[in-house]
Amino acid sequence: MNFLTIVWFRHDLRLADNPALAAALERRGQILPVFIWSPEEEGRWTPGTASRWWLHHSLSSLSKNLQALHAPLVIRRGPALEALNQLIDETRATAVVWNRRYEPAAIARDKQIKQAFRERGIDAESYNGSLLYEPWDVATKTGQPYQVFAPFWKACTAREAPTEPLDAPEYLPGLRTKVAGEPLECLGLLPKLDWDAGMREHWTPGEAGAHARLKQFTDRALGEYHELRNRPDLEGSSQLSPYLHFGEISPRQVWHLVDQFRRVHRTPTVQQATKTFLAEIGWREFAHHLLYHFPHTINAPLREKFTRFAWEQDATGLKHWQRGQTGYPIVDAGMRQLWQWGWMHNRVRMIVASFLVKDLLISWHAGAEWFWDTLVDADLANNTLGWQWTAGCGADAAPFFRIFNPVSQGQKFDVDGEYVRRWVPELARLPTEHIHAPWEAPADVLAAAGVRLGQDYPRPLVDHALARTRALERLAAIKDG
Ligand code: FAD
Repeated sequence: MNFLTIVWFRHDLRLADNPALAAALERRGQILPVFIWSPEEEGRWTPGTASRWWLHHSLSSLSKNLQALHAPLVIRRGPALEALNQLIDETRATAVVWNRRYEPAAIARDKQIKQAFRERGIDAESYNGSLLYEPWDVATKTGQPYQVFAPFWKACTAREAPTEPLDAPEYLPGLRTKVAGEPLECLGLLPKLDWDAGMREHWTPGEAGAHARLKQFTDRALGEYHELRNRPDLEGSSQLSPYLHFGEISPRQVWHLVDQFRRVHRTPTVQQATKTFLAEIGWREFAHHLLYHFPHTINAPLREKFTRFAWEQDATGLKHWQRGQTGYPIVDAGMRQLWQWGWMHNRVRMIVASFLVKDLLISWHAGAEWFWDTLVDADLANNTLGWQWTAGCGADAAPFFRIFNPVSQGQKFDVDGEYVRRWVPELARLPTEHIHAPWEAPADVLAAAGVRLGQDYPRPLVDHALARTRALERLAAIKDG
């Protein structure tokens, strides 16, 4: 009998270390690789504009790689169950395999699909292709999910090291007959406006791009990650987040490469750097652990008292923030980097998020939604954790009363002002001592730098000291109930 297994690609757009693909190969029959475009099944969090851009290019890359192995990717539209059933009818496939996702809408849909296939006598299996540790495998001594990062990561690292990643297949037994699919271009994933020039220039989506990025990071920055990771001006972090989100590289592959690096370079600096970097991969694990165990947090704060917080409805403030026109250079630099690259440095994400939530008192929901639409790495687990962490309403969060000062944060982490000069070019000629607070610069300094405040660059949208007091008053109100 000739078995045919459908490999349903989702957030695992790679050939190497892909457990579902490897399982399909082990079945020794033919393989039909499939992608289903089904945004309406993602609930409220349908892929944003930047994510769609990435997805288009990632699918194009995966498609070429599969074609080279003689198993072309078939693209269909959802709902997924209907599309898969149709494919089974057309091809007489006997099994469907996929790697798991952890978003509540995906879990509910996948459960339903598994059940339907079992009832139909179709073998349906899912695998772990996205995480080092399954959320249900890590628990406190009393069997509860973790809500604090340090003990969570300690428990993870006390477990066996992640197994070796699987090699990419050299050949795939694809179907000899052609199965009809939708051309990628017809999905309309690319933006209608010419907004993606910066992203095209900066990123190479796809499996090869992921490995090139990891190599560049290990060659240039990993050894000093502990010192450089907070410096947005130096690009000291890996920029692997979109590749990890779309599964163009697996955390297991990253883990092993970093571990190898640690074994070869035995200096204390490298030991510290690799430990710190792997802990960031740990935060990604933690975010998925929380998403799985507390799925309501995608729409509501984990710490319930924050549902009573009196947020401002400030459409003008939100617009200024989104456009990078707040008058605080480090905030504006971050928001403009986001607009152009679809990505922002982690330190700056924390600064801009704190500014929105605490200086402008605009709900973290509005920030999470903007990030969702504009980030190429938009990820429901990481984005929810990041916003609730900043807003003080999530697990192991920064307390709400710790309010970032955008000027001192800029001075501390963009020491020479180069990050601001790059992304806010109208301030480029300001001397470093004034670049993070141009409104405090003497008139002759501003004139010499060609900056007319209120014309070339805005005055601060709010006075940070006053905004801080206002935020603390709002916090006190929910404390008192
Ligand atoms: P590196 O420092 O090189 O870290 C390596 C990898 O570890 C990252 O690629 C990422 O997968 C993971 N990681 C690092 N920091 C975190 C973290 N704090 N939480 C979870 N995982 C982490 N990350 C996303 O991937 N998608 C998001 O939608 C997202 N939204 C965020 C929103 C806010 C408000 C904040 C404060 C953070 C958010 N993050 C998000 C986390 C973090 O900012 C990014 O993962 C990181 O900046 C990506 O850059 P990098 O790949 O160079 O990170």
